[in-house]
Amino acid sequence: MPLYEYHCDSCGAAFDARVEDADLDRPVECPLCHSLETQQDISLFSVYGYGESQESSCSNEESGFR
Ligand SMILES: [Zn+2]
Repeated sequence: MPLYEYHCDSCGAAFDARVEDADLDRPVECPLCHSLETQQDISLFSVYGYGESQESSCSNEESGFR
C-alpha cells in the first residue's frame, strides 16, 4: 500500500498515511487533532531526482579514477 504525505490545515501537523487508490478522494483524518481538513503533499523527490551536484561530482571522480 502506498504511503502518502499529508499535512493538516487545522493544526499544521505533517503525517504519513497509507491510502488505497480507491480511498484517495476520501478525506484523511489528522492523527493529532482528528480534523478532516487535511491535504496531500506532493512529493518533491521526483522533481529533484536529477541531483545536479551529486551527479556531477560522481562523474568527475569517475573520469579522474585510474
Ligand atoms: Zn491536525
